[in-house]
Amino acid sequence: MILPGKTIGVLGGGQLGRMLAQAATRLGYRVHVYEPQANSPAGAVSHEEVNAPYEDLAALTAFARKCDVVTYEFENVPAAPLQAVEALTQLHPHWRVLETAQNRSREKRWLRDHGFPHAPFAEVPAGGDLAAAIAAVKIPCVVKTADFGYDGKGQLKVMAAADAEAAVAKFRGQPAVVEQFVSFACEVSAVVARSAKGDVRVFPISENLHTNHILDFSIVPARVPPDVLAQADKLARSVAEKIGLVGVMGVEFFVTKSGEVLINELAPRTHNSGHYTIDACVTSQFEQQVRAICGLPLGDTSLLSPVVMVNILGDAWSAGEPHWETLLAAPSAHLHLYGKGEARAGRKMGHFTVTAPTVESALATARELKAKL
Ligand code: AMP
Repeated sequence: MILPGKTIGVLGGGQLGRMLAQAATRLGYRVHVYEPQANSPAGAVSHEEVNAPYEDLAALTAFARKCDVVTYEFENVPAAPLQAVEALTQLHPHWRVLETAQNRSREKRWLRDHGFPHAPFAEVPAGGDLAAAIAAVKIPCVVKTADFGYDGKGQLKVMAAADAEAAVAKFRGQPAVVEQFVSFACEVSAVVARSAKGDVRVFPISENLHTNHILDFSIVPARVPPDVLAQADKLARSVAEKIGLVGVMGVEFFVTKSGEVLINELAPRTHNSGHYTIDACVTSQFEQQVRAICGLPLGDTSLLSPVVMVNILGDAWSAGEPHWETLLAAPSAHLHLYGKGEARAGRKMGHFTVTAPTVESALATARELKAKL
């Protein structure tokens, strides 16, 4: 057990690292952040921040030696340097978990090989025949780069033959995955935690509304039938067990019109759709991450109130500073800003949550407050 007072190292200095550091320091831990870019959101609330590339083995080794446990908040940390960290201190989740989840080909293959429901897909290796893969999966489909994809970046919908030519031109021989297009009824996600002892806890399932491929609203409880909730919960649990998770993982699902639950994506870290847990659950996903990686008992994941989370993107600054006072005057709203300097369009700058006696009223208030921002 790594007790309060010890040092937690975080690879990646974004908002997930920031909220992890806030939860960890509240519990009395020291937090060190390793992040290539200076002045990171997580570094600003941590004891130490190291700015060096992930490939800088000397810097990474010096960092790892000062930490009692290391975790990551960023999915594109290369797996090779993680192995160096693991040789020096505890690393959770295991680097193999990240290696599987950070590449769509490996991730889909893992899901298929372990019998998890997913959309049919074809893998296209570097220089492979994308047109043939599209023909095999059949239009409509979605082409996604195998590496470095998030928030819909590096993906293209192929709804007609002409789009297939555009995809071949766009992807230019990059390794990719072609997935059958799922005309889903809705998208939901789960945040699951697993301890080294094998205890597993799943937070309440979130219903997610995206705009331009970026999460816009998370709604909890999700407005789906109980058996869909049960399937998502069971799948998340089973993924955590089969992949050997120690830590926290986000699992994204498509719910088809016939009520089938397919796994879309795995993220071996806290998840944007789990931010609601800070204000609406007994334990937040960030505290749960601390508990899981430090070998503490996992916390209660019970929901205290219906809740809606809204992402605040850089777009909210298009006409100047957003009207925080309106949001702060609303008694049921909770504002979280990540301390990022530059408000670029599409950049996640913060989020807010609204708690209310019913999910419908929380959503109505959230929409109203978002419009007034
Ligand atoms: P991803 O980066 O894979 O999570 O995709 C981002 C978003 O694109 C998802 O949340 C969906 O809204 C949409 N999307 C991704 N893959 C598919 C698919 N196979 N069928 C339909 N929509 C998809």
